[in-house]
Amino acid sequence: MTKHIFVTGGVVSSLGKGLTSAAIGLLLEKRGLRVRMQKLDPYINVDPGTMSPYQHGEVYVLDDGAETDLDLGHYERFTNSLLNRDSNFTTGRIYQTVISKERRGEYLGNTVQVVPHITNEIKACIRKLDAPDVDVAITELGGTVGDIEGLPFLEAIRQIPLDIGRQNCLFVHLTLIPFLKAAGEAKTKPTQHSVGQLRQIGIQPDVLIVRTERELGRENAEKIALFCNVEKNAVIEEPDKEFSIYEVPLGLVENGLDQLIVDKLGLTSAKAIDMSEWQQLLHKVRNPDHEVTIAVVGKYIQHKDAYKSIYEALDHAGISHSTRVIVKRVESEELERQGPESVLSGVDGVLVPGGFGMRGIEGKIDAVRFARESGLPFFGICLGMQCAVIEFARNVLNLKNANSTEFAAETDHPVICLLQDQRTVTDKGATMRLGKHDCLLEPGTRVAEAYDAERIGERHRHRYEFNPEYRDQFNHGGMRLSGLSPDGRLVEIVELTEHPWFVAVQFHPEFKSKPNRAHPLFSGFIEAALNHHQERLQLSL
Ligand code: GLN
Repeated sequence: MTKHIFVTGGVVSSLGKGLTSAAIGLLLEKRGLRVRMQKLDPYINVDPGTMSPYQHGEVYVLDDGAETDLDLGHYERFTNSLLNRDSNFTTGRIYQTVISKERRGEYLGNTVQVVPHITNEIKACIRKLDAPDVDVAITELGGTVGDIEGLPFLEAIRQIPLDIGRQNCLFVHLTLIPFLKAAGEAKTKPTQHSVGQLRQIGIQPDVLIVRTERELGRENAEKIALFCNVEKNAVIEEPDKEFSIYEVPLGLVENGLDQLIVDKLGLTSAKAIDMSEWQQLLHKVRNPDHEVTIAVVGKYIQHKDAYKSIYEALDHAGISHSTRVIVKRVESEELERQGPESVLSGVDGVLVPGGFGMRGIEGKIDAVRFARESGLPFFGICLGMQCAVIEFARNVLNLKNANSTEFAAETDHPVICLLQDQRTVTDKGATMRLGKHDCLLEPGTRVAEAYDAERIGERHRHRYEFNPEYRDQFNHGGMRLSGLSPDGRLVEIVELTEHPWFVAVQFHPEFKSKPNRAHPLFSGFIEAALNHHQERLQLSL
């Protein structure tokens, strides 16, 4: 039967609960167990698709088109867990289901209430992970214990042991032990309070993972164990990591977490752990032979999670080339003010990521122009491709004021526009072109070479498309339309032949990159950046 692990968080948010949950999944897989992961988010939006990246960080897209929390990105990068639209539930989604059941009359005669109707629905979502091919289901609860909106979720997970047996459930609570410089010591009180709150709800954590700035010491760990009513060996330290997030799983193994979980859940089929692949990965991260600087030109640049998967994918590509990738985060409006020459001098590649809305667009287009004209490796993703198309139309094809109808509805040259089937859509939630779509690559192009394939499948999240009426002009002008949808209707990839590396894609390749399996396009981009870097060094000698 499937055993369940629940990961909750306390004291403060942003402790890396998603990363820790993903690391637990990874450790269990490294012990030969089959894992499935899930995130429950207590906010009311039905999914994060309508939220600004400033509020929520990146929206992570799955193959089936579900717009999900960015923690699912950690799950996919760290584990082989199958993920689909049933891997992320919000309060909004749960209520939507319960309310439509009520309207259909499924609760006829009853008063519909948070307990049991909402909690039963949450439990049903959790139990969807039960399957013969799943040894352990890991459910991460978003937010922090004490949040009003988290209560029904906590109540639901409290009840699961009643249904499947306490011995088949494990409650992991992640908290912070702050180090107070003035007092010169680590403080355990907030953790005690947080566990106290959980116990009031009826949940006794089995394992406490404590995030610390400095080493805690056994004495403190024992104190926490005593006050929080957990076993001494079940207080696991997770100190801040200096180099990389890839250190997290190894630290947890060192502190005995995998064995603890195996013992507590009686996972008798678990093998001895083999972390050799992960150790090699970390070795490469710590000892790079080269270094490149990539400018990411975006508009949500101050938010550290707004382009999360892009930063990760750049790192993966760096690892595959033994290269440390330094990201220069460029605010596109800043580039508008200062000009590309000063902002982009000294970088080895420019990446323009996805985005929505008008702000900062001209800065991105300036960045494309600079990269195209100076032979700087360029990678455009989604909106980044649309900017590349607009730039080429304006400055090479001389289509004056060419634009996307997203930014200039009345432009004379709508090189990016809504296609017929999108024009009548007015709802904003889950109405974009979403999820995995196939794409045919034209043989002999840079992308066909990078993928070493003729047909690929990549994830999408956009409304606007390359306007098919302009295809011939672009082809004749020297921009190659190197990837098309299988029916030939949609332009998915453009590239410049007369340039060291200029590729722009309508999809989001960053969602399919893994630490040990860099995405071919990111890999190609970093390789080109490396060549650029070396040429630059030679010139300066
Ligand atoms: N705003 C553009 C569109 O809707 C690009 C979207 C994106 O970059 N994800 O088509």
